[in-house]
Amino acid sequence: MHQPTSQPRPSIYYNYQVHQPWLASQHGAQKRQQVAIVGSGPAGMVLALELARHGVSSVILTSELQVSQGSRAIVFTRRSMEILQQVGVAERMTQNGLPWRFGNSFYQGQRVFRMEAPHDEDNRFFPMLNIQQQYMEEYLLDACEASELIEVRWGNKVTHVAQEKDHALSTVDTPEGEYQLESQWLVAADGGRSGIRSQMNLEMEGTSYEGFFVIADIKIDLPFPTERLAYFDPDWNRGNTILMHREPHGIWRVDYQLPPGETPEEALTIASLTTRINAQLEMIGYGGTPWELDWSSVYSARTLTLPDFVHGRVIFTGDAAHLLPIFGVRGANTAFQDAQSLGWHLAFVVKGLVDEKLLSNHSSERVGAAREIIEEAGKSTRFMTPPEGGFTLLRNAVLSLSLTQEFVRPLYHWRTSRPHEYTHSMLNCTDDDNALFKAGPAHGAPPQNIRLSADNYLLDHLGGGFDVLYFAERDAMPADLCHVVDHVRQQGIPVRIVAVGLGQSVAGADATLHDVDGHFRQRYGVVANGATYLLRPDQHVCARWLTLDAHRLQAAFDAALLRSHKA
Ligand SMILES: Cc1cc2nc3c(=O)[nH]c(=O)nc-3n(C[C@H](O)[C@H](O)[C@H](O)COP(=O)(O)OP(=O)(O)OC[C@H]3O[C@@H](n4cnc5c(N)ncnc54)[C@H](O)[C@@H]3O)c2cc1C
Repeated sequence: MHQPTSQPRPSIYYNYQVHQPWLASQHGAQKRQQVAIVGSGPAGMVLALELARHGVSSVILTSELQVSQGSRAIVFTRRSMEILQQVGVAERMTQNGLPWRFGNSFYQGQRVFRMEAPHDEDNRFFPMLNIQQQYMEEYLLDACEASELIEVRWGNKVTHVAQEKDHALSTVDTPEGEYQLESQWLVAADGGRSGIRSQMNLEMEGTSYEGFFVIADIKIDLPFPTERLAYFDPDWNRGNTILMHREPHGIWRVDYQLPPGETPEEALTIASLTTRINAQLEMIGYGGTPWELDWSSVYSARTLTLPDFVHGRVIFTGDAAHLLPIFGVRGANTAFQDAQSLGWHLAFVVKGLVDEKLLSNHSSERVGAAREIIEEAGKSTRFMTPPEGGFTLLRNAVLSLSLTQEFVRPLYHWRTSRPHEYTHSMLNCTDDDNALFKAGPAHGAPPQNIRLSADNYLLDHLGGGFDVLYFAERDAMPADLCHVVDHVRQQGIPVRIVAVGLGQSVAGADATLHDVDGHFRQRYGVVANGATYLLRPDQHVCARWLTLDAHRLQAAFDAALLRSHKA
């Protein structure tokens, strides 16, 4: 019998709420669910919220009785915030998080590189926001609990999954014993150690790097702004890199690599943590400042992915589908993108709007994203913690040259998580004008946000269904385009027409945004009115035209819905 702890997890700053376990005996007969989601981490909850936006219900089965232990992921990217805005939790994140956009790299006491993440007034969100994962999970949970289409079953551990042609059958262990649950689809969002992945004997491709890293969260009063601090090859930990990040509630994250041969158990003793944290504080000029440990953990860098995320009726997402190094803030940020993508693909399949092969598109797009991240993360990992030989030589050369040579300093800039662009997606239109645009988001890219007025941005108006973003020249939409949209809507596909007018309202559009000074048109590479972008429900561009007619718009919908086009 599964007995999750009912003791609140310890924390200096966060009050863990322990939820009641969900017990089958207190509910009627189990009906078949549309979607069962295993895991209430960021991937599982964002997926449930995305499905709910499309009217698809889900049950979240989660083994613990409280949100995750320790701060874990603490840095959230702008794109993650845009995704969280779609599911209604961005405001709480920004109210409570710490925004930032600068990073500093130090070597031998000298700042050798200052990273500046681009930010302009068209962006609602900063490039990065620091907040502990427990808070993010709490906000997502509140949103899930507010939805009539989401049921969260605490203390429900999935111990076995069997598959039939049209459903999955889960064995769920609870504090009162097991029950069985059928679902049309089962999503394994059960994290990096996914038991479902192991039970199905699925192998991941990629590399596991040697060496362990400690992350320790301490409460301390340090006068630094919210900027990333990276210390290369410090005297107290030669050859390694130390990262520091400010978190809300007076907490700082200290992240350091262990020397070869030291075990995680040794590294997490209070004596070891104290010695190293004191050495780091000494080095940055704050030795002797009082501090208190909140949480510590050990991780190793891995760049692994399943080569396919869809296996019959079981779909893997988030860390269950891939394991990425946390350098470059890739863990939870990638999980959000996975869940956002899976949300609409799966909803359209569940609702019978499209063929099941749409799920292959999700898998190939997100495996492609994982492979791209693995490629980039591998480079960062080799720079931050170089294996012996050539990589060490290269890094040492960069470090020593950077003290005097400006040109090598940008090499310190390891790439952080960025949204994958589905450039080669099978949903992209093949005969549109994508290649003719000189600016604006191209095939597969998420849209560039635009500030429309004081607290009013383009992305506030997009998403959830397809959006036809039409740069209007007149005060009414062309009737033939509206006719195509009506036809697609009649098939149950959610579509909105968002006109970008020049000051006047555009009849026939669901919303008109105003571009009085032409700034929007300029950023989107629009040279003549009538230009149009078609965005998928996850906001990524799948077609764009300099001029559009009904036939071309219909062809783009057919491509995006994997239907063959009848001329
Ligand atoms: C110690 C640690 C430190 C980290 N630090 C960072 C960091 O600094 N920066 C960063 O970007 N990322 C970090 N990460 C990674 C980040 O936390 C993950 O990438 C992110 O949480 C992935 O989300 P997920 O929803 O895929 O999985 P998880 O958040 O792992 O969620 C998995 C969920 O599945 C549940 N579950 C597991 N098995 C079962 C089962 N059999 N039945 C039912 N429920 C089950 C779990 O209880 C949990 O709710 C860290 C991770 C760990 C473990």
